[in-house]
Amino acid sequence: MKDSVNICLSCGLCCDGTVIGFVQLGREEVPVLREFIDMENANGEGFFLQPCNNYCDGCTIYSKRPKQCASFKCGLLKSLEQKEIDFDSAIETINVVKQKKTAIEKKLALLQLKLHSQSFYFKMLELKKLFQKNKSESSLSQNHLDLVSDLQQLDNLLSKKFNI
Ligand code: SF4
Ligand code: SF4
Repeated sequence: MKDSVNICLSCGLCCDGTVIGFVQLGREEVPVLREFIDMENANGEGFFLQPCNNYCDGCTIYSKRPKQCASFKCGLLKSLEQKEIDFDSAIETINVVKQKKTAIEKKLALLQLKLHSQSFYFKMLELKKLFQKNKSESSLSQNHLDLVSDLQQLDNLLSKKFNI
């Protein structure tokens, strides 16, 4: 069935750290979810970083997933629910984002940039800061410039289509 639940099942860009960097857990969720989720704890509250250890071609703890996961709706999902776009064009947008993400990951491997973050989301933030510091185009190689361009394209896509 082509509906909004299925678009999330086909997407997973929240869970793999493309659209969201972390999930905040309510105090009451911490004891229940500790068994399933590798979480960080402080003062009874918890959160976990993306990519989520429960993501494997869909959520493996779907019925027990955190409240933030159940309630989050990106702009693409809202547009689909409001029938501003159809299912196929939503899938097309998701695939373009996934291709862009793969292209960025390949360039990162090629350039061997030393980044502290494990999560794609935080890597992107780190990279933007890094390139902001070294703004002068003359100090950047063509591969670096290509990476900057990919980052900008991904940013534009996420902001325009996903309202991120
Ligand atoms: S990014 Fe949007 S469409 Fe994709 S899984 Fe998250 S809420 Fe669903
Ligand atoms: S718990 Fe499920 S829905 Fe939430 S981030 Fe992890 S895989 Fe995604």
